[in-house]
Amino acid sequence: MAEQKARTGGCICGGVRYRISGPIKQIVACHCRECRRMTGHFLPSTDVWNEHFELTETRDLGWYRSSPKSRRGFCKTCGCSIFFRTDNAEKISIAAGSLDDGCDGEIRIAAHIFTAEKGAYYDLDGAPAYEDGGDSVPMPPRD
Ligand SMILES: [Zn+2]
Ligand SMILES: [Zn+2]
Repeated sequence: MAEQKARTGGCICGGVRYRISGPIKQIVACHCRECRRMTGHFLPSTDVWNEHFELTETRDLGWYRSSPKSRRGFCKTCGCSIFFRTDNAEKISIAAGSLDDGCDGEIRIAAHIFTAEKGAYYDLDGAPAYEDGGDSVPMPPRD
């Protein structure tokens, strides 16, 4: 694997912390009703392979089963919405806003998904937009 700096992130209060040891995907912003309710706006997130992801603090981590096949991870103390994981998936989605370095410009919003459910009170930027969950943003190299 190419030399990769470790990234860290977590919630506001420190009850949930994680570490990423591999490359991360460009950001996909989800505008579905559920993400909008969960975050208060919409959910820009990156994806990482499971083997590049490690929880380093789980004291306040809660999982909400948001569908028969997926769960959302959040902080039970400060309320931050941080993770989305499809059961048995080989990757985990991480809210871009939870990264410590604010993504430092290396990753940008590369697609908008579920725009059919987007709020009427905001406009999208120029990134490709998809009415459903299909997006063409590739996962980063695995090793
Ligand atoms: Zn917290
Ligand atoms: Zn969504």
